[in-house]
Amino acid sequence: MRYYCGIDLGGTKIYSILCDNSGKIVARKKIKTEAALGFDTVFANLVTCYGELLKKAEIVDDDVEKIGLAVPSAVNTATGMLLDACNLGWKNVPLARLLSERLKKPVFMDNDVNMGVFGEYSFGEASKFRNVYGIFAGTGVGGGHINNGSINRGKNFTAGEVGHMVVKIDGPECNCGRKGCLEAIAGKAGIIKYMKKQEEKNGFKTMLSEISPDWRTMVGSAALKECYKKKDALVVKAINRASEALGIAAANIINLIGVEALILGGGVIEEMGSLMMPAIVANAKKYAIAGGAEGVGIIVSKLGDDAVALGAAWYAAKA
Ligand SMILES: [Zn+2]
Repeated sequence: MRYYCGIDLGGTKIYSILCDNSGKIVARKKIKTEAALGFDTVFANLVTCYGELLKKAEIVDDDVEKIGLAVPSAVNTATGMLLDACNLGWKNVPLARLLSERLKKPVFMDNDVNMGVFGEYSFGEASKFRNVYGIFAGTGVGGGHINNGSINRGKNFTAGEVGHMVVKIDGPECNCGRKGCLEAIAGKAGIIKYMKKQEEKNGFKTMLSEISPDWRTMVGSAALKECYKKKDALVVKAINRASEALGIAAANIINLIGVEALILGGGVIEEMGSLMMPAIVANAKKYAIAGGAEGVGIIVSKLGDDAVALGAAWYAAKA
């Protein structure tokens, strides 16, 4: 049996899976990225994670054919160059080649959301569609577009960056330096920033202060969900605003590309999808041109944490 490894390199964790030649996951391993310790440490952690994954699966290195590596950055897939991973502080790193030399395996590298959408397209909820756009909302918001099995990367490998689609003129400042991006409204960091501002400006009180006292710096999506369900005014306002922004972005994508399905995933959606989807779907329909959203699937990812790593492994297998 031949196996494929998929590694999802994130800002806080490295999540890896091993799958067989039918795409069935046989093992998973997660370790800390330790991004603050610099490139050499993170690179060593990638190698360690791979080794521990094999140990866990009781599979020898020789049985692994290829590795797919998903990174939080635009990637020049022709040269295997990671272009700009701002949350790791890396620019222009030939990471695919370095890892390939170290592990003596072919390594295919691409953007993490592209790989997540490819996972959903190959195995998940989106697998019955051909022209699919994925929106993944976590700390930030990313996107990816697949048409007939091929990923649309764009001239400079930056296509699909729906997180920086402007959905509000003069809206909140985004990490990219511009204003009103989807990410600044619907990403977790943007949601927190908005709640802080409302608390300061309008004196909102929130039960987050009891459930998750550190919410102003970091809050789990589970705590947000709990407060939403208890009708906490501040959380409801922030989440409804995020849902509306996601719906507007979905409509823009439908208007622009005419996709068959939009798949929503990422930590925020995974936890709160059932609460957010009605507003997302309603706004997608409201802002899409007449007839544009008709029959378009607007669906929630079911692969969860596996989507990106499995997509990477499977893309490498098919490459
Ligand atoms: Zn932006």
